Amino acid sequence: MYGLSAADEDIQARARAFADELIPFEVEAELSGCLPGDVTAAHKKRAIELGVFATNLPRELGGGGCTTLQQVLVQEQAGRVTNALGWAAATPPSWFPPVATHDQLSRYLLPTIRGEREECYAITEEGAGSDVDAIEATACPDGDSWVLNGVKWHVTSFNTADYCFFQAKKKTEEPERASSFHSALRPESLPDETTGMKRVRSGSASGEHLLFLVDLPSPGVSVVRTPAYSHTISHHHPIVAFENVRVPAANLVGTEGDGMRYSREWFRFERLMVAARCTGAADRLVAEMSAFASSRLAGGAPIAAHGLVAGMLADSVTELFAARSLLYETARAIDRDPSDVRTAHAQCSMAKLYCSEMAGRVADRAVQVFGGRGYMRENVAERFFRELRVERIWEGTSEIQRMIIARQLTTRGVSSLA
Ligand SMILES: Cc1cc2nc3c(=O)[nH]c(=O)nc-3n(C[C@H](O)[C@H](O)[C@H](O)COP(=O)(O)OP(=O)(O)OC[C@H]3O[C@@H](n4cnc5c(N)ncnc54)[C@H](O)[C@@H]3O)c2cc1C
Repeated sequence: MYGLSAADEDIQARARAFADELIPFEVEAELSGCLPGDVTAAHKKRAIELGVFATNLPRELGGGGCTTLQQVLVQEQAGRVTNALGWAAATPPSWFPPVATHDQLSRYLLPTIRGEREECYAITEEGAGSDVDAIEATACPDGDSWVLNGVKWHVTSFNTADYCFFQAKKKTEEPERASSFHSALRPESLPDETTGMKRVRSGSASGEHLLFLVDLPSPGVSVVRTPAYSHTISHHHPIVAFENVRVPAANLVGTEGDGMRYSREWFRFERLMVAARCTGAADRLVAEMSAFASSRLAGGAPIAAHGLVAGMLADSVTELFAARSLLYETARAIDRDPSDVRTAHAQCSMAKLYCSEMAGRVADRAVQVFGGRGYMRENVAERFFRELRVERIWEGTSEIQRMIIARQLTTRGVSSLA
C-alpha cells in the first residue's frame, strides 16, 4: 500500500519493531511518571542501533540521511507509543547544519546526532506564544559576549537537555549589570498607549530576532517552577528564567536577525512530524479498539456488530486513511521539490491540522468503544485521549495553521495547495 519503496519499507519495519519494544514500558511510565534512567538510556541506544535516530540529519554528519517520507515513516511508528517513549527516536535540529559554525557543530550538533547531548527550545513567553514576534527576551552585545534576559514558558525537555536554543530580540543598550530579577528579568509589563500590547519597561529592544546556544546549566539560568501538564511524560516543561546570562559571541546562531527564519524552518519540519506521530497514534487506536470491539460481547454479539459501534470504527479507519494519504503526499512533495518552501509551509500546516484533529477524534471514539476500561490510565485510549490534546496546541495551534493555510489560499489560489 501507499507505493513505498523497499528502502522505505525497511526503515518502516525497523521503526515499527522499535515501537513494539517500547509499548510494554508504557504503563510503568504512566504510573511512575517516568522510567529509570538506565532504561531510558537503553531505549536511546536501541534507537541508534536500529538506525531510527537522527534520521533527519545528513549521513556525512552521522545522521540517517533519510528522505522526508522515510522520516515521516519513522515518526509515525514512534507516535504509536504513549508517554512520549517514542521520542527516543529523536530528531535533532535539521535546520542547523547549513548555518552552524565549525565550533557549534563540534560542541553541539555532532554530539547530539551521536546521542551524547540533548537540546531544548526556549522561545515561548507568558505574553508571546502564537505571536512569536511579541517576545520580550533581550540579547545585549557586550564586548565579545552577549547578555541574555527573559523568562521562557513551556521549555520542553529542560530537565533532560544539555543546552537550549534561546530566542531573543537585540537590545543595543548597555546590559543591566545589577542582578535584579525584578528589574532585568521580569520587566514590568505596561500597556502600550497606542497598541494596548505589553511593552518592556527596561529599555527597548529592536525587532531583530536572534537565536543563541546556552549551555545547561549556566549561571543565571534557573527554573521558576515546573507546572504539571495533562500528559505523563518524563520530559518536563518548566518556566525558566534567564537572568543576565552571558554567552560568548560564538554562541550566536547564524547572523543577527535570522532568529525567526530558523524558528519557521523548525516549525515546518516539526509540524509534519507532529502529523506523522498523530497518524501513528490513530493507527494504534484503530487497531486496539477494533480488536476489542470484535471480542467484547454485548447482547450476545460482538459490540463491533452493533451499528453505533461499527460506525465509530468505520469513521476512524476512514479518517486514518485520509490522514495518512495527506501525510505521505506532503512528504513526497517536499522530496520532489525541496525548493518550493511556500507550498511546503502551507501543506505541512494542512497535515498538522488534519492529522492532529483526526487523532483527537479517534482517541475520543476509542475511549467510548472501550467503555469503562477506556477511562483507566492503564488503557492506551485513556492515555492517548489526554496526550493527543496538546498536538492541536504546540508547534502552532490549529487556529494558527488555519490562518497560514487560508492566507496562502487567498494569495496563491487553490491550485497551489491542493
Ligand atoms: C506541553 C507544551 C510544550 C511546549 N513546548 C514548548 C517548547 O519546548 N518551547 C517553546 O518555545 N514553546 C513550547 N510550547 C509553547 C507552545 O508552542 C504554545 O503554547 C503555542 O504556540 C500557543 O501559544 P500560547 O500558549 O501562548 O497560546 P496563545 O497564543 O495565547 O493562544 C491562545 C488561543 O488564542 C488563539 N489565537 C492566538 N492568536 C491567534 C490568531 N492570530 N488568530 C486566531 N487565533 C489565535 C490560539 O489558537 C489559542 O486558541 C509548549 C506548549 C505546551 C502546552
